[in-house]
Amino acid sequence: MNNQNQNPVSSVTEPAQIQPVTEDTPLSEQQNLTAEELSSLKQSRRIADQAAKQRKWEKRQQRKKAQEAEERIADARDAESRQAMHEQYMSEAIAEARKAAAIREVPIGCVIVRDGKIIARGYNRRNTDASTLSHAELNAIRIACRTLGDWRLEGCTMYVTLEPCPMCAGAIVQSRLDEVVIGCMNPKAGCAGSVLNLMQVPQFNHQVKTTKGILETECSEMLTRFFADLRTAKR
Ligand SMILES: [Zn+2]
Repeated sequence: MNNQNQNPVSSVTEPAQIQPVTEDTPLSEQQNLTAEELSSLKQSRRIADQAAKQRKWEKRQQRKKAQEAEERIADARDAESRQAMHEQYMSEAIAEARKAAAIREVPIGCVIVRDGKIIARGYNRRNTDASTLSHAELNAIRIACRTLGDWRLEGCTMYVTLEPCPMCAGAIVQSRLDEVVIGCMNPKAGCAGSVLNLMQVPQFNHQVKTTKGILETECSEMLTRFFADLRTAKR
């Protein structure tokens, strides 16, 4: 082993430690600089430029992150107020369902909202009216059409305690409702995703936005209690 080979850069790096050349050195004073000093000055300016760029980039990233955080907070506030609004109208649908329970009908209730106003209410009256057609949704749609003087319910949102059956889902699509907000799902007959999803069939000329699970527990417990009471009464 040759001793000289052990530190090959030391002889090259030492002359580069030339002082005092800084990035702030005015051009006028650079006239007398040696080639090495000039190269060192250029190098230090490159480093300073890169550092400045890096600082700018970091600041931009910080601003971007702060903006995104603000947007997330605003979105969360919007979602919160939307949720509160949905719950408020679903409570009205639950009140309709209680009217059905009071006359020993399966407790399903519905309201239709337009421009922040309830324009129609309905509850299940199938036995009372002795009619297959007397579901909460159809009863409310009938009233809404009468109120608006139009079969089209564009701009309207329906709140219903139970996922609509095929007949009501069909009527909802036909009436061109904008949105249906559902309390609890109906795995045995629901047509907003459980058995079928008639709300968003791309081949139909109208699709209905669906929102699920609003006051779900209250809506489903109301049904469970009704059927439990029915079984007790039969014994
Ligand atoms: Zn129905």
